[in-house]
Amino acid sequence: MSCSKTQGGSDVDPSVQCGGCDAICCRLTVVLDPDDRVPSHLTDYTHDGLHVMARDEEGWCVAVDPEMGCSIYASRPDVCRRFVMGAPYCRDVRQVHHDQLRRGIPLTMY
Ligand code: SF4
Repeated sequence: MSCSKTQGGSDVDPSVQCGGCDAICCRLTVVLDPDDRVPSHLTDYTHDGLHVMARDEEGWCVAVDPEMGCSIYASRPDVCRRFVMGAPYCRDVRQVHHDQLRRGIPLTMY
């Protein structure tokens, strides 16, 4: 998947790898920080006024490229930089996603 969220840590499961994932984290709501430098045409505002990464019709972040990489990797938002592959939050969203797939529940947008 896209996000190079590959920092180490004591609570990281090394068996969880982006290459075997459906880029679930790139369907999460990416709230932008005022210091982020993301091109404005890739951003949007929620009904509550939060400045976020825009999504396509299927819920993917619009910066996901065809190879499931991040097309703005060098200037990706701070929250994306802090998302750690295999850490508890990553594992939680993967678990929810897989539970929904198993039960035939449509994807949830977070
Ligand atoms: S900005 Fe890049 S790393 Fe962040 S969600 Fe979008 S594609 Fe993934």
